[in-house]
Amino acid sequence: MFRVFKNSIFGKIFGSLILTLFLSGVFFIFVSLKQQGARITENLIKRSETLSKIASKQIEKAYYAEVWPFETLKLIISESEDIVFLWVAKPDGRIYFSDDPDVISMGKIIKEPFLGTEETLIQDWTYPRGVEKIKLIIQPLEIRDEEGRPWSLLMGVSLRSVVAAERTVIFNSLGLFILTFFLAIFISFYLTKKITSPLEKLKQGAEIIGKGNLDYQIEIKTRDEVGKLAEAFNKMTEDLKNSQMALGEELKRAKELDRMKTEFISIAAHQLRTPLTAVKWILKMIINGDLGELTSEQKAFLSRGYQGNERTIKLVNDFLNVSRIEEGRFGYVFELIQLEDLIDNLIQDFDHVIKERQVDFIFEKPKEPLPKVKIDHSKMRLAIQNLIDNAIKYTPEKGRVAISIKNSIMHLEVTIKDTGYGIPKKQHERIFTKFFRGDNVIRKQVEGTGLGLFIVKNIIEKHGGTIWFESEENKGTTFYFTIPVST
Ligand code: ADP
Repeated sequence: MFRVFKNSIFGKIFGSLILTLFLSGVFFIFVSLKQQGARITENLIKRSETLSKIASKQIEKAYYAEVWPFETLKLIISESEDIVFLWVAKPDGRIYFSDDPDVISMGKIIKEPFLGTEETLIQDWTYPRGVEKIKLIIQPLEIRDEEGRPWSLLMGVSLRSVVAAERTVIFNSLGLFILTFFLAIFISFYLTKKITSPLEKLKQGAEIIGKGNLDYQIEIKTRDEVGKLAEAFNKMTEDLKNSQMALGEELKRAKELDRMKTEFISIAAHQLRTPLTAVKWILKMIINGDLGELTSEQKAFLSRGYQGNERTIKLVNDFLNVSRIEEGRFGYVFELIQLEDLIDNLIQDFDHVIKERQVDFIFEKPKEPLPKVKIDHSKMRLAIQNLIDNAIKYTPEKGRVAISIKNSIMHLEVTIKDTGYGIPKKQHERIFTKFFRGDNVIRKQVEGTGLGLFIVKNIIEKHGGTIWFESEENKGTTFYFTIPVST
């Protein structure tokens, strides 16, 4: 219940209004009760004081005439039903006269310090002792004792009428309060609803617009802040729609351009591949001496030409693979394969370059066969080839390259570690993007296209694996990738 008030504007406003009204009502009752009570008590005391003065005069007269004015005093007492007793007390506390003859016969002794006072006093008292709260008016008389101290007239005034009046005030105010409180609930509910229902409309509108319906217009016609907010909202939706349309057009154009670029690369690469392959075989035949003996100088020149042609073929293949990935045509054929055998087999391709660059190359093949994994043989070969190629290419001569593979139960984890140039820290996040090449390797003029890792990442992820690396410039790089073990 409390949550309803806490979690909605309606609850908050409504709750605050009700609470404020309730508290001000209670405060109002309390204050008026106090004021009313004080006023009635004051009137009562004033009236009683007047009566006590009249009584004093009568008693003084009677004392000197030695005739007690019982009847007159009874009359005075009967003037006000609030007077509970009327006594004349000597300064020593003995009662000399009382409206009730029993009290005199008891010779009641009052031990109060105010006896013998020279001025009128009003005290809080209880009468009978400890039972009812009363006001006691002490009036000095002209009659004095041997020591010259005045006798006192004691008049007990009951506060019953004050209490009764207070009760009436409470009762009336409470009735009025309950009535106004219900009225206030009704008005507050109406007012709060009036404030919050446009907000609710605004929320619903925002939800509809949020779901993508930018044609939706929020219908709030008020001229207040909420109305203005709705207007701003509608304007924002309109602007959003326009910019979305413009963006859509832009995106369409960019996509078309991209498609055309990919198509162009694909066509160009295809066209280049056939003549490049023809050149490759012709050069190979000539170098092998199939068309007649060559001098060693001729052989060296042709070999350089052959290697240049090989690099161009790799570039063209990379281009073709990238365009296939982007066009979604990089098809996969999965089969269960022993990954360590695949690596074992492909590192033979690197024999020549390992020797040439005097690389300390190690493949830490696991002693026990690993579980077979579901992979596309040629794509996985291409990926690992790229990683090993990079490790050797970006490691200076006589460096070290180590490949290891471990079974982490859910997947196989392959590590390719080199002691090469490393990747500059500030370029780490761009490593898998197309055409990225590290500043350090460009400076060293190591050839490359910047497409290899883009293709590798795509292949690993298509196998359900992940790829990451650690690298420090001039210390080396380690690439890791995982391939899930099919259960
Ligand atoms: P390429 O090697 O053809 O330039 P890649 O996509 O394979 O393209 O690599 C992108 C870049 O990442 C490289 O140019 C190089 O700067 C950096 N790189 C990749 N592998 C390594 C490595 N093992 N050591 C140092 N730098 C590397």
